[in-house]
Amino acid sequence: MKIAVIGAGAMGSLFGAMLAEADNEVWLYDIWEEHVQTINRAGLSIEREGKTRTVSLNATTDPDQIGQAELTIIFVKSTQTQSAAKTAQQIAGSDGSVMTLQNGMGNADVIAEVIEPGRILAGTTSHGATMLGAGRIRHAGIGATTIGVWADTEPGRRRAGQLADFFNQAGIETEAVDDVRSVVWNKLLINIGINAITALSGIKNGQILDLEITRELSRTAVEEAMTVARAREIKIMDDAVDIVFKVAEATAVNRSSMGQDVDNKRQTEIAAINGFIVREAKKLGIEAPVNLALTALIKTLQSHYS
Ligand code: NAD
Repeated sequence: MKIAVIGAGAMGSLFGAMLAEADNEVWLYDIWEEHVQTINRAGLSIEREGKTRTVSLNATTDPDQIGQAELTIIFVKSTQTQSAAKTAQQIAGSDGSVMTLQNGMGNADVIAEVIEPGRILAGTTSHGATMLGAGRIRHAGIGATTIGVWADTEPGRRRAGQLADFFNQAGIETEAVDDVRSVVWNKLLINIGINAITALSGIKNGQILDLEITRELSRTAVEEAMTVARAREIKIMDDAVDIVFKVAEATAVNRSSMGQDVDNKRQTEIAAINGFIVREAKKLGIEAPVNLALTALIKTLQSHYS
């Protein structure tokens, strides 16, 4: 299959490499020239549990070079989804599929402004990756991937099933589900309970559990989001708070992605995480003061980076 990846950072490079290793024609598109040049010259280097392998891939800063792809995967940060969606529109042509496994809520809806929702596959992945430098990533964790079509159509469901099979054959453990909105929401709830709190306080994920006051902050943020989800009739985990605490425990020594963004003075995905809850709550006439405070503080922090 011919596959394009838009946003070939840690995750885009990883998925691109895993699909290229399964003998697909993969093109990485990124605006980071040094990264693209390094991949074209020396391949992508992937570190996993102390061992390093190199994967040959096509990389470009010019989407015109790619032509049409049957599958386009968007892996930019959510702040760049609109621009990536326009590029995807060009690469996917009239019948290619467009997939997003990004964190946060709203990415698929932004893509749906330019691609029919029946051709959009959304989902989540528990793979983890980090950029080590131009042309170098670390594959930090392996986990399941779940996908489903954004607008529930029969051809869309079939496509999700076919792509899940295709990913499984490439060694990417993937399940296709009918109600992918619930899956994306459940992942959102975890990010809501961990990301902004760790980013603002400088702590690691597990340290959320150390103090009752931090647990209460996390619990309240998640419960506000659960109220919004239920008002929208989204099926979510009833024990989301417990799950958030379990994830915090299981990833105790990690700094969250938003924490890393703040540490490196990068724009965060706050608008697609806690900020999304604030916007939805407002539309529904629901109060979400903890998510509002977390969003306001992150936005203030990132607008005053030195
Ligand atoms: P990243 O910052 O490593 O990669 C993003 C890449 O997009 C960068 O290389 C950047 O140069 C590129 N980019 C920016 N604007 C672009 C544009 N307009 N067109 C093309 N490329 C552009 O980010 P990441 O960690 O790979 O995360 C990507 C998404 O996946 C995020 O939504 C994140 O929350 C989600 N995610 C990450 C992980 C993880 O372990 N890193 C796990 C699950 C989900």
